[in-house]
Amino acid sequence: MSLARRLGEVRERVTAAARRSGRRAEDVEMVAVGKGHPVSALREAFEAGQRTFGESRGQELKSKYGQFGDGSVEWHFVGPLQTNKVRIVRPRVTLIQSFDRDRLVTPWLKGAEETPPALMQINIGMEPQKRGVPPEQADRVFDRWEEAGVRLQGIMAIPPMGEDPEAGRPYFARMREIGDHLSVRARRPLILSMGMTDDFEAAIEEGSTMVRIGRAIFGTRPKVGQA
Ligand SMILES: *Cc1c(COP(=O)(O)O)cnc(C)c1O
Repeated sequence: MSLARRLGEVRERVTAAARRSGRRAEDVEMVAVGKGHPVSALREAFEAGQRTFGESRGQELKSKYGQFGDGSVEWHFVGPLQTNKVRIVRPRVTLIQSFDRDRLVTPWLKGAEETPPALMQINIGMEPQKRGVPPEQADRVFDRWEEAGVRLQGIMAIPPMGEDPEAGRPYFARMREIGDHLSVRARRPLILSMGMTDDFEAAIEEGSTMVRIGRAIFGTRPKVGQA
C-alpha cells in the first residue's frame, strides 16, 4: 500500500474516532512521526497533505530540517531532550511535546527572546523507565514552569504499552482528568497529546486533541528507535 493511501486511511480513522467522541476531524491534530525514516518518506506525506511532523532525536531533526525545512512544514520534538541539544532543537520546532523535567527549564529559556510552546510530559503509568512528571505533581510543576517562563500549551503522555489497544484507556481517561483540571486552573484550553499507532482511536475517544502517528503512516521503522 502506498504511503499516501496509508495516510488517508489513518485520517479516516482519526475522523471516525473524533465523531464517536462527539467532535469533528479538525478537533484532533495528527502529527506524523517520521523518526528513522528518510526525508523522501516525509516528502511523500507532505505531497499527500501532511504538514506537521514529529522527530525524537536532535541530530535527525537538524538533518531533516536542513533538507526539508520548507516554511510550510511544522516540526514537533517528541523525544527525550538532552540539555546539550536544546540549541539544535529550539530554533527548529513549533512545539516541544516532551518537556519532562525541571532541569530543562534553565537551558530551554537561556539566551532566547521567545521560545516555542511546550507540552508537559506526564509519566501517566508511573513507569520507572519512562520520563515525565508524576501525575500527582502535575499542578505544582505546571505552575513552577509557567512562572519560570515556559510557554505551556498542554500535556503529553506515552501510556504503558500492552498487547491490547484498549489497555491504554484508563490512562487516557486519567490524562483527560488532569488536562481538564489544569485547563480550569489556567483558564484556557490545553492540548491533550496522546495516542500512537496502536492506540490512537481509544485515545481520541477518551478526549485526545493531538495524536502522534509513526508506523501506521510510514511503516515499520528501518532503524531501531531509542525514543
Ligand atoms: C515514535 C513515537 C511516536 C510514534 O509511534 P508509533 O507507534 O510508530 O505510532 C509517538 N510519540 C512518540 C513520543 C514517539 O517517540
